[in-house]
Amino acid sequence: MATLKLEIVTPDRKVLSEDVEYVGAPGIMGEFGVLPNHVPFLSALGIGNLHYKQDGKAHYVFVSGGFAEVSNNQVTVLAEVAEKATEIDVDRASKAKERAEQRATAAKEKIESIRNQAALKRAISRINCKNSGKNAGTC
Ligand code: ATP
Repeated sequence: MATLKLEIVTPDRKVLSEDVEYVGAPGIMGEFGVLPNHVPFLSALGIGNLHYKQDGKAHYVFVSGGFAEVSNNQVTVLAEVAEKATEIDVDRASKAKERAEQRATAAKEKIESIRNQAALKRAISRINCKNSGKNAGTC
C-alpha cells in the first residue's frame, strides 16, 4: 500500500519524520485530510491537533500556526510551534488555561482579548491532544 511521508518541523527543531497512512490537520479554513496520492495542496494552519495513522494507530501532534504542503505523497508541515502528545506538559497547559480564563474577564482592549483567546485555544488544544493520544494508546 502507498504511504505518505510526514515531516513536521518548527523554527527550532525537527519534530518528526515518519511514513504514515493518513494525515488530518487543522487548516485555517477547517480540518483537512490527506491520503496517499492526494493532489498537490497548500494550506495555512490554525491552532489545533494534527493526527496521523501509522500501522492503523492514531498519533496526535499539537500545532499552532504555519503551513502544510502536500506534494508527491509527502506532507511537509512548517509549524510555528508543534509538540507530539508525548511531549505535552499538561500541568503547564492547565496553568496557561487558568491564566487565560482569568485574563478573559479582565481584558478590555480588543487586541488583548484576541491574544487571550488564542492562548486559551492553545492550552485547550494541548490538553485535548494529550487526552486523545492517551485514549488511542499512543501517548
Ligand atoms: P505558556 O504560557 O505555558 O508558555 P504558550 O501557549 O504561550 O504557553 P507557546 O508560545 O505556544 O506557549 O510555546 C512556547 C514554547 O513552549 C514552544 O517551544 C512550545 O513547544 C513550548 N510549550 C508551551 N506549552 C507547552 C506545554 N504545555 N507542553 C510542552 N511544551 C510547551
